[in-house]
Amino acid sequence: MQNFDFYNPTRIVFGAGTIASLARLVPQTARVLVLFGGASAEKTGTLAEVRQALGERFVQEFGGIEPNPSYETLMRAVEQVRREKLDFLLAVGGGSVIDGAKFVAAAADHEGDPWNIMETGGASVTGALPFGTVLTLPATGSEMNNGSVVTLKATHTKLPFRSVHVFPQFSVLDPTKTYTLPEKQVANGLVDAFVHITEQYLTYPVQALAQDRFAEGLLQTLVEIAPRAIAAPEDYATRSNLMWTASLALNGLIGAGVPQDWATHMIGHELTALYDIDHARTLAIVLPAVLDIQRDKKRDKLLQYGERVWGITAGSEEQRIDAAIAATRHFFEGLGIPTRLSAYGLGMAAVNDVVGQLGAHGMTRLGEHGDVDLALSRAILETAL
Ligand code: NAP
Ligand code: FE
Repeated sequence: MQNFDFYNPTRIVFGAGTIASLARLVPQTARVLVLFGGASAEKTGTLAEVRQALGERFVQEFGGIEPNPSYETLMRAVEQVRREKLDFLLAVGGGSVIDGAKFVAAAADHEGDPWNIMETGGASVTGALPFGTVLTLPATGSEMNNGSVVTLKATHTKLPFRSVHVFPQFSVLDPTKTYTLPEKQVANGLVDAFVHITEQYLTYPVQALAQDRFAEGLLQTLVEIAPRAIAAPEDYATRSNLMWTASLALNGLIGAGVPQDWATHMIGHELTALYDIDHARTLAIVLPAVLDIQRDKKRDKLLQYGERVWGITAGSEEQRIDAAIAATRHFFEGLGIPTRLSAYGLGMAAVNDVVGQLGAHGMTRLGEHGDVDLALSRAILETAL
């Protein structure tokens, strides 16, 4: 096992009816900014529950945070926070709203150009406003981690940042709040969580036995619940398992002491920034190709993954690896999520453009070995055609 420093201070309040607990979770004297996305939080009644729980506190609202939140939009929230001297943020929504709140929290007190936060990957963050979240979409794990992804729309630049200062103080996870999700978002959430796990698991063995078993258990749980997560939106047991599994997938636990890949995410971010393909859908395109291109370096874990997650034991090593990659592809496709660039009408021109953007953003040493340079990214994208 590798050395690690595991820290996760986020309180999770989980279950039906738990939005009411905002009444005790948010400080009484806070000047609160409630952040949300488009129409869903209002339409589903979630915002009404939030307002009721906040009671007599001083509350302002900021709506309109779009999927793949933009720097341009978030800076308007930063201006509101500064102007109105707000001191506590409450994100109500999915990964985009929560990531957005993290940026606003960090930017509010940031000296100099807030875009530096993104350019330094979070290294320039020296403090942040406290914030909590009400999760409405199980997918990203953002509700229980310190990562955030923000897009500068003007230049199609989608970058991640990370800081110890942007862990949510608390997250409220009410599985009944996911009942209204469109089928497509549930499928996206299953795939995003699945790939968060593979990014931390499908690398090379370091004798991290518990982390492996945790990761495999989470992957198997996603595979097991996927059909009912799609077919039975109001099945509480299924939705509660989906919600908690997605949080556990990226809260630091399975990533402690193990190598991590993240090439799929970084290449996927460019596809979203250039072509507006949903985050999870970019991952479904890139991951099978990464596994194929990196099969020699990932050999031991691919064989273990095939056997323990998919029950693949027959055939030569190459055949078992092929079968494990095919099972992964089949799982995504079964959720209605394509695994090829061509499904989005993208071809060689797109490959060139994505490689160009990866270069422009310094994404030239990706993967657990730092060996995914632009040539290897090109090979991955060509395999994904
Ligand atoms: P999202 O972009 O937050 O939301 C997608 C859509 O779902 C929105 O249009 C939203 O509609 C709708 N929605 C949310 N909750 C709903 C509900 N309960 N009922 C009906 N509709 C609902 O999706 P996401 O997949 O959670 O977040 C994706 C973002 O997270 C990407 O930018 C990705 O890069 C990032 N990400 C972050 C991390 C991390 O660790 N921080 C990890 C992976 C990905 P409204 O706008 O109308 O509300
Ligand atoms: Fe993700």
